[in-house]
Amino acid sequence: MSDACLTCGACCTWFRVSFYWAETDAHPGGTVPAHLTIPISPHLVAMRGTESKPARCVALQGEPGQQVGCSIYPLRSSTCREFQAGEARCNQLRQARGLPALPAPDAAPQ
Ligand code: SF4
Ligand code: SF4
Repeated sequence: MSDACLTCGACCTWFRVSFYWAETDAHPGGTVPAHLTIPISPHLVAMRGTESKPARCVALQGEPGQQVGCSIYPLRSSTCREFQAGEARCNQLRQARGLPALPAPDAAPQ
C-alpha cells in the first residue's frame, strides 16, 4: 500500500475483489489464503466480505479513512496488486469520501 492507502482503504471496502481461483493457496503456486475467499463462478473467487454490499474485505485491518492495513499484503491477489493508488477509480472513491486526490501513478505497479 502507498502511504496514502494507509489512511484510506476505500478500494478494499467498495469493489468485489475477484480473481482466478488458482491464485489461492489451494492451488500449487497460489498465494491468497483460500479460506479468505468465496467462489463466485466456476473459475473465479472473491475476497470474503467483498462479494456483496456493503463490502469490506476480510483481510482489511483497521478503520477505513483513518488507519488501515492489509493482513495478507505479500500474498494478495493480482487484482489487488494491479489496482494503483492515484488511478481514476482510486480517486473517484477518495473524492466520494472527502479525501484529496492523488497524483496519477507511474507506469510501474507499486
Ligand atoms: S482507494 Fe486508492 S488510496 Fe485508497 S486504499 Fe485504494 S488505492 Fe489506496
Ligand atoms: S486483500 Fe488486502 S489489498 Fe486486497 S482488498 Fe483485501 S485488504 Fe485490500
